[in-house]
Amino acid sequence: MKIERHNSPNFSSRKGMKVTGTVIHYTADGPEWNPVKWLCMPEAGASAHCVIERAGPVHRLVKLRDKAWHAGESEWLHRGVLPENVSRYTIGIEIANCGLLFKSKSGDFYWRQNRRFRPYIGPKPRWGKLTYPGGRIVEGYWEPYTDAAMNSLQELLAKLTQIGYGEAAQNLVGHEEISPERKSDPGPLFPWERFSRKLPKSTKAIIGDA
Ligand SMILES: [Zn+2]
Repeated sequence: MKIERHNSPNFSSRKGMKVTGTVIHYTADGPEWNPVKWLCMPEAGASAHCVIERAGPVHRLVKLRDKAWHAGESEWLHRGVLPENVSRYTIGIEIANCGLLFKSKSGDFYWRQNRRFRPYIGPKPRWGKLTYPGGRIVEGYWEPYTDAAMNSLQELLAKLTQIGYGEAAQNLVGHEEISPERKSDPGPLFPWERFSRKLPKSTKAIIGDA
């Protein structure tokens, strides 16, 4: 697979920690926004190792040996390390996707960037409900993931295995699970059944008709 390389300044050292997991994110942006460009700007203060576009192209922003700033305040309970260190032992993959959409009274969908609502122009949204372990629920309409992006993710994980990151590639977790309440990516529409995990899903997802 072809991976386009970029250099985001938003990284630091893993300080010797072994890479043992992969955190899945969505960008929370519509197709008119360029997440690669943004995550390579110092003012973003965040990054990911890879970004996958809706149409399938894959970008690498930070070297795998470095810590990309993708998880923020997070905790992966079975690790027994300080919460802020999740990014230190994981690979961060962002998938271009609006996530939870806003529906107007007339039935049109929007995605929000800061305070501005922009018309949603992607595939037909699907209803989904996310329940955090503490019981809080996030429900509504979400942007579905494209087959092209999911195929690229599978190919990327196979590639990571080939180059020595097999443990991380076979141990996926959602950002919503390691930052419950605070984050809702990758959300209920992410097809977990296609990917390998070590722990059962800690947030529950239901999808279908509202
Ligand atoms: Zn995230």
